[in-house]
Amino acid sequence: MICVRESAALHQYLDQQRKLGQSIGFVPTMGALHQGHLSLVASAKAECDLAVVSIFVNPTQFNEKGDFDRYPRDEQQDLRLLEYAKADVVFLPDSQEMYGKSTALLDFNFEGLDTVMEGKLRPGHFKGVVTIVDKFFSLVKPDVAYFGQKDFQQLAIVRLLARRLHPDIRIVGCSILREPNGLAMSSRNELLSGNDRAHASVLFRALSHISKHWKPEHALNLREEALSMLTEENVQVEYLEIADYDSLQPFNSDTGNKAVACLAARYGAVRLIDNVVLPEQH
Ligand code: AMP
Repeated sequence: MICVRESAALHQYLDQQRKLGQSIGFVPTMGALHQGHLSLVASAKAECDLAVVSIFVNPTQFNEKGDFDRYPRDEQQDLRLLEYAKADVVFLPDSQEMYGKSTALLDFNFEGLDTVMEGKLRPGHFKGVVTIVDKFFSLVKPDVAYFGQKDFQQLAIVRLLARRLHPDIRIVGCSILREPNGLAMSSRNELLSGNDRAHASVLFRALSHISKHWKPEHALNLREEALSMLTEENVQVEYLEIADYDSLQPFNSDTGNKAVACLAARYGAVRLIDNVVLPEQH
């Protein structure tokens, strides 16, 4: 496994590999890696000649400085896990390398995908995301890039970014890996107390309630029932939305479209998100 910290060196290495006919699969991460991240690396390994993983805690996508400061970081452990997952290249830039002196953000038309849920509660978050993903795509020029459905809204926005600015890159959405109690794996789970980590399994139970009983015409009732499950357990819910699968606007059963149930909840300072696509098989 090759570790690179400088963009110029990465660019040079990947150019050589491309000339040798190697296809490139790219997995951008913010580190504090877990099995969910490694499943993306496994998909990249299965479909491409080279799996390139970046680890960069992108400051411009954090709308709370405290969240950025608290974000878990463990480079040595990440490198061990990536070695074990047989990643080929790890890119570990610092902020200077990615942004230089200017943190100017990409001017991007989100077509409304940023006005709901995460975008509504975390102003500027997705501007930071598209800015860094655009920089990575321009540098790595992957054939395929892998993103988790765990960040459903981010995946929708990255697909739009790729369609518009990087049409040669295929975006693959990978399913959510969960802890044995159903809690979606997340770097932020490490910040939870043992009790909260056990308690947070109710998030998936509430989403599962919606998917198990899913009927488009019952969307509003199912949302209310899931919300009650959460409030009865004293979960601090930031939102629980049933949204149109494509537009992410509030779901309307008349359209015949697929839906997705998305939620965000807080355990103290730790913010967790999760979702289920509807209908989902059980
Ligand atoms: P992050 O390091 O949180 O920015 O995540 C890097 C990538 O891993 C993103 O595309 C996430 O959606 C994906 N990811 C995070 N958690 C999971 C999970 N539990 N299962 C699958 N993919 C995940």
